[in-house]
Amino acid sequence: MSARVNRTTRLVRRMLSVAGLLALAGGAPAQAPPPQALSQAPPPQLLLFHGHILTMNPGDSIAQALAVRDGKIIAVGTDREILRLAGAATLRIDLNGRTATPGLIDSHAHIADGGVEELYHVHLGDASTVAEVVRRVRAAIARLKPGEWLQGDGWDEGKLAEKRYLAAADLDAVSPNNPVWLMHTTGHYGAANSVALRLAGITVHTPDPVAGTIDRDARGIPTGVLKESAKNAVLDLIPAPTPEQQRAGIMHSIELLHHEGMTAVKDPAIDRPIWNAYRQLLDEGKLKEHVCVLWFAGSTLASARAALQEILALPRPPQSLGDGRLLSCGAKIFMDGSGGARTAWLYQDWNMHSTGIDAGNTGYPAVDPQVYRQQVRLFHQAGVHVGTHAIGDRAIDWVVDTYAQVLAETPRAGLRHSIIHANIPTDHAIETMAELERKYDAGYPEAQAPFMWWIGDTYAGNFGPQRSLRLVPLKTFLSHGIRWGGGSDYSVTPLPARFGLWASVEREALLGTYGAHPFGTAESIDIHAALRSYTLWAARQLFLEDRIGSLEVGKDADIAVWDRNMYDIPARELRNLRCELTIVHGEVVYDAAHP
Ligand SMILES: [Zn+2]
Repeated sequence: MSARVNRTTRLVRRMLSVAGLLALAGGAPAQAPPPQALSQAPPPQLLLFHGHILTMNPGDSIAQALAVRDGKIIAVGTDREILRLAGAATLRIDLNGRTATPGLIDSHAHIADGGVEELYHVHLGDASTVAEVVRRVRAAIARLKPGEWLQGDGWDEGKLAEKRYLAAADLDAVSPNNPVWLMHTTGHYGAANSVALRLAGITVHTPDPVAGTIDRDARGIPTGVLKESAKNAVLDLIPAPTPEQQRAGIMHSIELLHHEGMTAVKDPAIDRPIWNAYRQLLDEGKLKEHVCVLWFAGSTLASARAALQEILALPRPPQSLGDGRLLSCGAKIFMDGSGGARTAWLYQDWNMHSTGIDAGNTGYPAVDPQVYRQQVRLFHQAGVHVGTHAIGDRAIDWVVDTYAQVLAETPRAGLRHSIIHANIPTDHAIETMAELERKYDAGYPEAQAPFMWWIGDTYAGNFGPQRSLRLVPLKTFLSHGIRWGGGSDYSVTPLPARFGLWASVEREALLGTYGAHPFGTAESIDIHAALRSYTLWAARQLFLEDRIGSLEVGKDADIAVWDRNMYDIPARELRNLRCELTIVHGEVVYDAAHP
């Protein structure tokens, strides 16, 4: 009881700070209810009215108002129906005709790692020349002691005027005494300077490791670019973030999510320190977001068993910690690499600069395919959800065939094994996903439409003109009855879900190096389907479809209020939507009028 009183008081305090948005009903908030009300259901603590509320219920219907009590939606309807539920202490938010949606959900965003990058690393996502990257590195080195590591993130050769990778030779003159690691925005490759290469023991004589590439010049000398498992020689040397930095990174990301009307997220590939950080924030009452995590399973059977031990010690979804705030959802495996590094596993050679051929390079699996199959079987038989990263057509086929095989061996519905990215699925993969969804509630794509935008120029050059048309085939998914979760893969692309809504419809590349629409528009979908992939369908991939993803009675009051109605505006405007208010569990966590 006292917990509820505290909660209400906190809510009231928060609401009082949004004076511009709400009309408080008369009377002091702490006033006792009249005696006759005690025998009835207590009034709602919060009402939203005069709105266009896109409920995402099965009929996709639009309501004017809704009522919230104890963090849950207790009524949805017309202004007249909802306003008469108000009690003396009910807080009333006048939407003034604005649009509200369920809080948006990202089914794949590395918010813990991304937050640490954002706070503590050099940002290169908007660098447009190699010289600009070097300038930022020089400025950051000046603040370090000799020997300290410098880390940067977010560069993309497709955004650099030179259209080439960074190299150790670019960095050495400004970093003679500090090791430097600059991670590509995909996280699958990066550039080291010569100090870092030396510390990592990488020389002209070092062979490529299994499932990795040491990039070399024409003379065979390492350039500094290390792809996939080859980058581990450097990454293993870099000090891990402190527990404080880890928590600060998560809090930073959650604040950004709230600014963007995003109230739930699946954080893939976590480890014990990240779990501990989430756990502590939850225990301190600071985790005001639904977070579902996947434990990184590594590339061996032993590493998968270790991840399984962590998972088996925790509640299984839909069970959660903190009333739906933290879920240990399952395991993450990498089947292949990246469409940026040309390491994803394909049937045909990669392209270069769109029409060129990277002869002999079809990428490679990140894990031995037979070991992968054993890993999936291990998790599946233990009743644990698996999400597998698969970009290339050949990798995706292997993943869906593996899911089909373990499900045939041990039929079990509802584990929702997913194909993370699912960039260029074959017809066979699409048929298999559709069948797995129907039969087993599994085989769901967790797709990132913003790849076509943010890394679209690099992607178009590498996939080439034919394969590009097949990238992120959302329309084909729809026509096969496939539901998918939308997402950003933050920090691969920026976190705001509005970019994903927009990219699902517009399929436009950032710079248009190979034309504005190298991926075509035949696979474009409308905003109704796009919004579903960032709400109800994504909720399913977080095992939270019974409590979030739509604004219906009994669900959590996770609500985003927007400056415009996304069903009415031109599609090109979707990326400019502005979130004005975000509510999680009935509590206002962001208010644009009082940020
Ligand atoms: Zn990812």
